Amino acid sequence: MIFDMPVRVIEDRDAVLQSGGELRKLGKRALVVTGRSSAKRSGALRDLETVFLAEGISYEVFDGVEENPSVETVLSAADRYRDPLPDFVAGIGGGSPMDAAKAIAVMLLYPGKSGNFLYEKTDDSRTLPVVLIPTTCGTGSEVTKVSVLTVEKDRTKRSIAHRHYPVLALLDPKYLKSAPLSIIRSTAADAFAHLVESTVNSKATDFSRMVSDAGFRLFSRVRDKLLLRDGSLSDEDYQDLLNVSLLAGVSIAQAGTSIPHTLSYKLTYTLGTPHGKASAVFLPGYLREADPAETKRILELSGFNGTDALEAWLTLVLGPVDASPELLREAVEETLAAKEKLKNAPFSVDRTVLERIAGIG
Ligand code: NAP
Ligand code: FE
Repeated sequence: MIFDMPVRVIEDRDAVLQSGGELRKLGKRALVVTGRSSAKRSGALRDLETVFLAEGISYEVFDGVEENPSVETVLSAADRYRDPLPDFVAGIGGGSPMDAAKAIAVMLLYPGKSGNFLYEKTDDSRTLPVVLIPTTCGTGSEVTKVSVLTVEKDRTKRSIAHRHYPVLALLDPKYLKSAPLSIIRSTAADAFAHLVESTVNSKATDFSRMVSDAGFRLFSRVRDKLLLRDGSLSDEDYQDLLNVSLLAGVSIAQAGTSIPHTLSYKLTYTLGTPHGKASAVFLPGYLREADPAETKRILELSGFNGTDALEAWLTLVLGPVDASPELLREAVEETLAAKEKLKNAPFSVDRTVLERIAGIG
């Protein structure tokens, strides 16, 4: 059994402002990677700039990461900021800027390599140190070695082959407050999908279940707060949501995701469906294929009285997903080809099973 968690996690009010000493150890020059506005709106960029100024760390900001970042964005940022080479990379945002930061930290060290290099399995894989600061409560990217990018030529999204954990994750629930409720809901659904997919998983261990079980319990405490109006979440709710996402991230770092995430990529690429919603829609179907005792256990921990209750809750919180049967068939074909991901499902999977999970069986 391997339990991997080499990321130093600091979660606290003002975690960034308190981490000058940690950041100083990483060097004197940083590249900050963000989306267009959330790093500023959440206050996280301001906090990081305050610490950098106090510690004498010089920095540049690349604020060009789009949602579901592309390989091209990563390459152009790496080319633009390679000279002079920063000592470390800091990513602020949801999963998109955090994943882009991880990939940029690799590509900064490989001038002249094309986007194909990101998907090559190679022993020569180095990275600059990465610090991540989440502003959503879903991906757990701050504690995983995964970076998911959009691959335009294949019209889908895929994890890069280079797997490096960040060195430091700085979590402050106050950064979630600027996010609209729709983003909180969708990202919380992503965290729940991580908990389910890493538990109903052939790579799950007693230790990963210990972590995900804590995540399910915490999720059951906060989940119905997601049904409230915009502006009704308390500081404690934001903290709980960030912790569910963190626990779920630690759990997927051990076992990985499974069929619902793999099915989701085609939907997000084609329809722009938010990542968490696109993944969570397949959870009831996935759980219906799993060992009934395990499904019952997970749903009880999360406060659901069966898969139908979960499905009703997801529709209430996320709204329906408008995917045509043709698109769902494409998603099934793409998932059938993702042999490594299929191995994560702890039951045998063929086209018929996938069609049932996708709701077209
Ligand atoms: P996201 O794509 O990073 O952001 C979605 C939207 O929310 C953006 O418009 C963003 O604005 C905005 N936003 C984020 N934080 C905000 C805040 N505090 N206040 C106001 N607006 C805010 O969303 P995400 O769901 O967190 O990340 C999804 C990505 O993560 C996908 O690409 C997915 O594949 C990936 N993912 C990675 C892992 C992993 O282990 N690495 C796991 C699951 C998912 P800005 O554009 O201004 O930032
Ligand atoms: Fe996810």
